[in-house]
Amino acid sequence: MKIHEYQGKEILRKFGVTTPRGKPAFSVDEAVKAAEELGGKVWVVKAQIHAGGRGKGGGVKVAKSMDEVRQYASQILGMQLITHQTSAAGQKVNRLLIEEGADIKKEYYLAVLTDRATQKVAVMASSEGGMDIEEVAHATPEKILKEFADPLAGLTDQQAENLARGIGVPDASLAMAKAEILKLYQCYMETDASLAEINPLILEGNGNIKALDAKFNFDSNALYRHPEIVAYRDLDEEDADEIEASKFDLAYISLDGNIGCLVNGAGLAMATMDTIKLFGAEPANFLDVGGGATTEKVTEAFKIMLKNPKVKGILVNIFGGIMKCDTIATGVVTAAKETHLSVPLVVRMKGTNEDLGKQILKDSGLPIISADTMAEAASKIVAAVK
Ligand code: ADP
Ligand code: MG
Repeated sequence: MKIHEYQGKEILRKFGVTTPRGKPAFSVDEAVKAAEELGGKVWVVKAQIHAGGRGKGGGVKVAKSMDEVRQYASQILGMQLITHQTSAAGQKVNRLLIEEGADIKKEYYLAVLTDRATQKVAVMASSEGGMDIEEVAHATPEKILKEFADPLAGLTDQQAENLARGIGVPDASLAMAKAEILKLYQCYMETDASLAEINPLILEGNGNIKALDAKFNFDSNALYRHPEIVAYRDLDEEDADEIEASKFDLAYISLDGNIGCLVNGAGLAMATMDTIKLFGAEPANFLDVGGGATTEKVTEAFKIMLKNPKVKGILVNIFGGIMKCDTIATGVVTAAKETHLSVPLVVRMKGTNEDLGKQILKDSGLPIISADTMAEAASKIVAAVK
């Protein structure tokens, strides 16, 4: 689960990480009021969306007067902000963060994340902050320093110091930088985050170290332990179809292609998408109906897939194990009738009660194309949508 920057900064503050003072705003008037309350002479008006790269996309503006705060707030609120992390259509801005302007002397990068390769928590730091870290990793990987925390010992003082020194924090600010790194590590661990990223972490003119941005991902399997984090969830930032699917306990992810797929089992669903690609088309979604899919669940799955106007055909690929093929077949027929299915539908089913399932499809009188192997199923649906 992701959250907004202003929420991330609230969490950082709880763990003692130094951040600029700021207030969220949901309207232009609120933005101006927030700036007045903060005081000072320079404010930053920041779009709050669940994607990075807002600065480059025009979603972060420095205001030097109340008029400018008002002007930027009205420009940014409601805009479709396009960044390298949003879709091509961008993300609508519904919230702002009004923050005191910081006196930036140097921008660093700092992140704590789960490193699958070493099965440890990695702390990454770089002297090249503020910009696209993927670009730094690509062009100058030597500028990214990593320390791996021992699961029992945690991140040590020495490791934090190596990072702070390694990225070139001046001596006078070393102790503070080291402390901020240790606090971010503690914050990551205690919130069950899978990513806690500060880009940029800055050195201010007065020598202080501050978190100017905050990005978090939380492990959804651990959210039951953190109701205060769940409360931060912003459904406006999530895919409407994915939210709908989660209500029915369906694992659904929207993609860009035109072939909807309904599969049982995540592995088979991945393999089905690969097979569609192999035959020259693109899947419109990932959808795992799970082992215990009922007729109702299959119908909901069809409805969600068909809501996507890009879907020009559907491929159902079922392995009947615990799930019986006749159950799925009944579900498919009911769903096809209920949704007045008008796009080609290819069904491939194998396993328990396979013959019974195929008979149900045949007897339905619906124009369902049946297939025996995955390759046959994929080639038939690809041909049908072309
Ligand atoms: P994003 O990563 O989405 O582009 P950031 O929060 O990192 O958004 O902001 C982009 C840039 O804007 C930062 O690298 C920094 O240079 C500048 N910036 C952000 N917040 C402030 C602030 N409070 N004061 C001064 N400059 C800021
Ligand atoms: Mg940033």
